[in-house]
Amino acid sequence: MTLTSGLGGQLSIDLGALARNWRALDKVSAGALTAAVVKADAYGTGIDMTSRALHAAGARFFFVATPDEGIAVRAAVPDAHIFVLYGLYPGAANLYIRQNLMPVLSSMSMLEEWLAKCVERNEAYPAGFHFDTGINRLGFRLNEAALVRERIDALGYAPQMIMSHLACADIPNHEKNRTQLALFGSVRSQFPTIPASLANSAGLMSGRDYHFQMVRPGVALYGGRAVTGRKNPMQPVVTLHVPILQITEARTGESVGYGATYTLNRNSRLAVLGYGYADGFFRTMSGTNQHPGGKVFIRGKACPVVGRISMDLTIVDVTELGSDLPDPGEGAEVLGPNIGIDEQAELGGTIGYEILTSLKGRYSRNYVGDGRLPE
Ligand SMILES: *Cc1c(COP(=O)(O)O)cnc(C)c1O
Repeated sequence: MTLTSGLGGQLSIDLGALARNWRALDKVSAGALTAAVVKADAYGTGIDMTSRALHAAGARFFFVATPDEGIAVRAAVPDAHIFVLYGLYPGAANLYIRQNLMPVLSSMSMLEEWLAKCVERNEAYPAGFHFDTGINRLGFRLNEAALVRERIDALGYAPQMIMSHLACADIPNHEKNRTQLALFGSVRSQFPTIPASLANSAGLMSGRDYHFQMVRPGVALYGGRAVTGRKNPMQPVVTLHVPILQITEARTGESVGYGATYTLNRNSRLAVLGYGYADGFFRTMSGTNQHPGGKVFIRGKACPVVGRISMDLTIVDVTELGSDLPDPGEGAEVLGPNIGIDEQAELGGTIGYEILTSLKGRYSRNYVGDGRLPE
């Protein structure tokens, strides 16, 4: 493929695949509401288009991290129910109310501020309540559950949802999953009539026990692998092609790139790509003689990164292509049918989540399809 955009690379996002992924997860969690987590610009795929497509597929509940992300979803999907995972920013209650955003409250101070606003306006504005069951991140501590209940009972306030978050859901046999499930059960006993939510993508794939009334998949929607050591059942959503700028030849014994960290052990052909760490190709994807790094596919063949990845450029070895050399301007596949986000991530010692959320480079973003069901 030849790239034409003035930016060089092309990121393509398949909204049809995204929608199919949401519907597939919705089937697995039948009986629970399937929300969509669209924080971090919808895992790098673009919060606006992605939220619209998920809504067209059937999603009505959305989770974001920040209020700004909530505002973006509100603009894209006017009738969305939006939870803000960071909770309530001090002084921001009016903004949440204006935008009809639900904070996921996670501390007594957040709770007091929200309740004070409800009393002031004489209106029970909806909010989620987050309890920490063992990840030691955001959330009310378990021993605060009774106090939380007393406070809201005194005012006749009921949360929209109570939730917790699993630390080890990607490892299904991890004993921590059962422990957190049991602790979440003890929280629920304080709020027996309130809808509950525990599962991220991996939790959703761990069986009914984890579904409760709402599941919160993120990475699986975008085609990422949620559970380690299992075949990934999701359809890929993103493909990325970056431009080949130049083909060069170099001889045995010569070095490649900054720091001369790679020495050629044969006469080689190299392709210089218009793509570097400023575009989301991590420097840990560099290839030295001791440690192979990332790779791209050119004309369907794997071409390893050689030498350090620099800010704007990456060098790959195309010797194996023989005489079937690409033309300048042709695209090299960084993510696509030959290499997915999780495979590329593994080569750089990271996870698919980080590959996705780093898709902010100098390339155009094209959307394919939409969230609607085929007629
Ligand atoms: C990010 C996030 C999710 C989604 O997690 P995935 O592993 O991407 O499915 C769900 N719940 C909370 C609280 C999160 O922060």
